[in-house]
Amino acid sequence: MPVLAPGVVQIAASKSDNVFLIAGGDGLTLVDTGRGTAVDALLQTIAELGHDPAGLRRIVLTHAHPDHVRGAPALREHTGAAILVHAADEAWLGAGRVPTDGRSGAGARRFDDLDAAHWTPFRPDVTLEDGALIAGSGGLRVIHTPGHSPGHIALLHEPTRTLLVGDALFHTGKLGYGPATYAADPAARPVAAARLPTDVAAVGFGHGAPLIGADVAAFQAFVAARR
Ligand SMILES: [Zn+2]
Ligand SMILES: [Zn+2]
Repeated sequence: MPVLAPGVVQIAASKSDNVFLIAGGDGLTLVDTGRGTAVDALLQTIAELGHDPAGLRRIVLTHAHPDHVRGAPALREHTGAAILVHAADEAWLGAGRVPTDGRSGAGARRFDDLDAAHWTPFRPDVTLEDGALIAGSGGLRVIHTPGHSPGHIALLHEPTRTLLVGDALFHTGKLGYGPATYAADPAARPVAAARLPTDVAAVGFGHGAPLIGADVAAFQAFVAARR
């Protein structure tokens, strides 16, 4: 399990989805939850990392896509953690699926009709806005990065300058925006990428390997080219 910085660990929720556990503040914060097929394994991993899963205080969702939110209701039930999401993606959580107009491509719309793309409808405990510092998280700052979804956010762990970009950028093979079909507004993605801070020490992705130390230069060059 890659350690991005002291207190910031990447956990594989499946072979293709990453979540991040942050220790600090008033306890544990989880960023994203995976597709909900391995909630028990995720709780077990948190315990193996030396933490009591009951210490999970909050789950911050980078956006309301099934591979990020589907595990959230069960994790909240097991731990009592609060669920936080940007206000612009809140309605999708309650719908239990991405609505038809939430994807730009027919391929993704077909995927959204599958049972595997649906989740138990739920409501967040807190809605987030751009620039918010998440109370109790030990220093997570919200950066609104719409495009992949209307309420997509990146999160900067300010004490360690660790940036968690969710699906604003993918690092699957190469650094890029990921498949346009899955995005609500593909043309907005470069604008969102340009909002990301580049004075960072590590970058974590929802999909793909992290960039740490000198490897961050590839991310910095990508963002700089959008400014
Ligand atoms: Zn996504
Ligand atoms: Zn994703």
